Amino acid sequence: MAAGCVIGVDLGGTKLLAGVVDARLRVHHRVVRRSREGRDPDALLDAIVAAVQEARVAAEDEIAAVGFGIPSLVDQRTGMAATTVHLPLQDIAFRDLMAERLGVPVVVDNDATLAMLAEHRAGAARGVGTAALLTLGTGIGGGLVADGRLVHGASGAAGEWGHMVVDLNGPRCPCGNVGCLEALVSGSALGRNGLRVARETPDSGLGRALSQGREITGMLVAELAHDGDASARDVIALMGTYLGVGLANMVNILNPEVVAIGGGLIGVGELLLEPARRVVAERALAPSRDQVRILPTRFGDASGMMGAAMLAMDLLRP
Ligand SMILES: [Zn+2]
Repeated sequence: MAAGCVIGVDLGGTKLLAGVVDARLRVHHRVVRRSREGRDPDALLDAIVAAVQEARVAAEDEIAAVGFGIPSLVDQRTGMAATTVHLPLQDIAFRDLMAERLGVPVVVDNDATLAMLAEHRAGAARGVGTAALLTLGTGIGGGLVADGRLVHGASGAAGEWGHMVVDLNGPRCPCGNVGCLEALVSGSALGRNGLRVARETPDSGLGRALSQGREITGMLVAELAHDGDASARDVIALMGTYLGVGLANMVNILNPEVVAIGGGLIGVGELLLEPARRVVAERALAPSRDQVRILPTRFGDASGMMGAAMLAMDLLRP
């Protein structure tokens, strides 16, 4: 392996993905960890360091820098995690702490911003002037490129598409509001809607799964839908409709050339995207609705990791 590899780390709400990446964006090794450290920041930081060290050992060569995408607003001046919802990183000097413990230069930014960076530099939105990205997982992450540049906003909080209200009387969102896109389109929403359908229609595929004692999670709904079960497909199509409402708003506001959709939920692919595109065609205004391409991310659920690696490589350039 050529020298000058970096490690990109995407620290999700429930999953850590670390990859050894070279300058040609080849991934040499991956480490995946479920985050089960609860609310103890020290345990979480120890687990992160252990995962990076494991990737480093597997790399069999010098690692020149490490980039982190974290689910938090990040103060770019200090590398501090400013506010976090899904992990206990609040007010932690993340960049300096990691640089000290890993002994290499470290760079950190918001996970979804980095996913946008990766897709804009080398993925679904490559070469595009205006693009947005949503990562659908535990929650919704968002990124934005305007006039070819990443947009951070006044304090790094731009692009929070997940907290766009799409149903005034909708379900409660983790942010405390009701009817946010994230409350309607996420892995947990998929499980919740799947359970409702299972209870209402005992003779459906989901109903039978429930009566067999299976736990109705988002993962199970995705699995049943993949196998062709109509009830599970309906649940995903309804979610795609809500996604489409959110996307129609974004399309009207931004007039983007590409909206890239990634994260763990994108595994269901066209089952989700097809109804979303239909709603955009019905509700967004011309000419924006005709210009926009709604695409899955090139790097799948690894966009954040690739963006973190690209940012780490930027550190090495003179
Ligand atoms: Zn919200």
